[in-house]
Amino acid sequence: MKLFKKYWFHIVTATAFLLLAFFMFIYNDYIKVKQNTILTDKYKQTAENMRSRIASLLLLKEKSTLAVALSLASNESLKEHILKEKVPKKYYEELIQRYKKNTLYQNIWIQVMNKEGISLYRSWTENKGDNLFKIRREISTVKKEQTVSYAISVGRYDFSIKAMIPVFHQGEFIGLIEIVSHFNSIAKVLKSEEIGSVVLAEKEQTKHLTHPFTKMFLKEYYIANFAAPKKLCDILLKYGIENFFNKEYVIKDNYFIVDYKLKDITGKTIGHYLAFKKLDFIQSNDLKHFQFRWIVLTLLFLMSVAGVINIAMFYRMRQQKIYYKNIIDSSHNIILVNDKKSILEANRTFFKYFTQYKTLDAFRRENRCICNFFVTEEGYLDKGNEVYSWLDAVLDSSEQTHKVKMNIEEKIYYFLINVALISEDNNHYSVIFSDITKEEIYKNELEKINTKDTLTNIYNRRYYENQIEIEMKNAKRYHYDLSVVMIDIDFFKKINDEHGHSVGDEVLVHSAELMQNSLRKGDAVCRIGGEEFIIILPHTKREDAQKIAEKLRVLIANDREVLPVTMSFGVAQYISGEEKDYLYKRVDKALYKAKENGRNRVEIG
Ligand code: GH3
Ligand code: MG
Ligand code: MG
Repeated sequence: MKLFKKYWFHIVTATAFLLLAFFMFIYNDYIKVKQNTILTDKYKQTAENMRSRIASLLLLKEKSTLAVALSLASNESLKEHILKEKVPKKYYEELIQRYKKNTLYQNIWIQVMNKEGISLYRSWTENKGDNLFKIRREISTVKKEQTVSYAISVGRYDFSIKAMIPVFHQGEFIGLIEIVSHFNSIAKVLKSEEIGSVVLAEKEQTKHLTHPFTKMFLKEYYIANFAAPKKLCDILLKYGIENFFNKEYVIKDNYFIVDYKLKDITGKTIGHYLAFKKLDFIQSNDLKHFQFRWIVLTLLFLMSVAGVINIAMFYRMRQQKIYYKNIIDSSHNIILVNDKKSILEANRTFFKYFTQYKTLDAFRRENRCICNFFVTEEGYLDKGNEVYSWLDAVLDSSEQTHKVKMNIEEKIYYFLINVALISEDNNHYSVIFSDITKEEIYKNELEKINTKDTLTNIYNRRYYENQIEIEMKNAKRYHYDLSVVMIDIDFFKKINDEHGHSVGDEVLVHSAELMQNSLRKGDAVCRIGGEEFIIILPHTKREDAQKIAEKLRVLIANDREVLPVTMSFGVAQYISGEEKDYLYKRVDKALYKAKENGRNRVEIG
């Protein structure tokens, strides 16, 4: 069970494929057998149909031949011809022509015999006077039984269909009339039904043909139909004529061949009607149906296998998605998918910070950008604008670390930002916000400690060095004035000397406090040396800085809280673009000037 849980996808797909292979294997065999059965049934049925078609055409021919003979038998002229034993050729030739013109009989033969069976007239030959009772049993039977007869037989002239009628005059048998017709018309009808014919007389029958009419032979077999196609005869020769006899059907060279046995009056086989049908014409609807069903079934099966695999893949993907989502959600970092406009995805941690939103949509409805929560502060990422977003800023200097200060639900957080491109096509980025609030606060505090002078609790030189750089940059960037005031206590050495070092310290502490308290909040007083101070005055030109310095000078000079002291002041305004050291030098020079000019005064550099 554990194994299944782990490998279920492989098991399901493998089973589906195995089933498919098994189905194909079994079904393939089944189809072959089934197709063969259907086809054999179809062939058997076709053979049956062809035979019965030949039989019915033969019967029709025999009957109609008989009808012609009957109509002639009652002809008075014929009786007269028999009685006189003088048969006028012309009379019968005209008769045959009439049949040829008006009926299907294209090659009808007439023979007239007297009561002794002597041939009085043959329409197809000049030969006459021979006794037919001796050679043809069926003729003597007609005389004996005095009844009509029709049969297929082989005579001296042809292998043909014959109808024999006894002729009576005043109730007395006076002779016989025989109508002979051939297989050609049957072959013609069958040809119109796409069936080719080769009519053969048996070998031993062929021997009787002393004057063979068609003069056509296939080995020792006489061909009884004129129009027997050569191509079909060649097939018979190619595979051996006998191999086509007495078979239900034979398939050779794309032909379906059926043997219909031609029998004489006694039932003896005297010839073969070989019927050829092109195999292509034998189409089985059952087979088509079966094949169609097979295709549909196979398709259905394939589709179901594909479906099973698809579903398995879907579940696997979902499983994987959940798995990866869990990984992302379990991260302590906020992980977002962003394009340059908005947040597309957010992990669970995101909502731990933005607790007032239950869904990302809710967040998006109220906030166009996460940068709305950014706090603008030196050293932290700016929210940017429409044209150049915070994301652009990160991407443009990806080698740098980017920190952001955020105000989320009235709480300040610090995050480290990492951005990576997920998809170039649609500009999707993964953005990771790692919470560094604790570290950052600690660091800031540490920095703060490092920037304060321990004696006076005002900023120290380190702070000044950093801060002046920031202010210079901002002044240059935002085009505002910036001035600095440098201060040195006059004759401080003396104070130390006269009152002791600790009193000197007290003076330092008190003076620093006094100055800091009388300045604006943003103006930083820094102790840069023993009894030397510097004040950074942003947004202040030197004239105003001079005024401020003057105010401080007076304030200090008049103060008596610890000891009366005076201070000298140097003032300088930052010239946009100048170096920090240069500004320092200038203000130092101004201070020196103040000392030079008598102390307790302000000089501008
Ligand atoms: P000037 O008017 O030329 O500035 O004369 P000055 O005596 O003040 O001369 P200077 O600035 O050169 O002397 C500074 C003196 O400040 C030297 C040192 O004894 C004293 N001093 C430096 N740091 C401290 C400190 O932290 N506490 C005390 N009490 N004295 C200090
Ligand atoms: Mg000094
Ligand atoms: Mg001094």
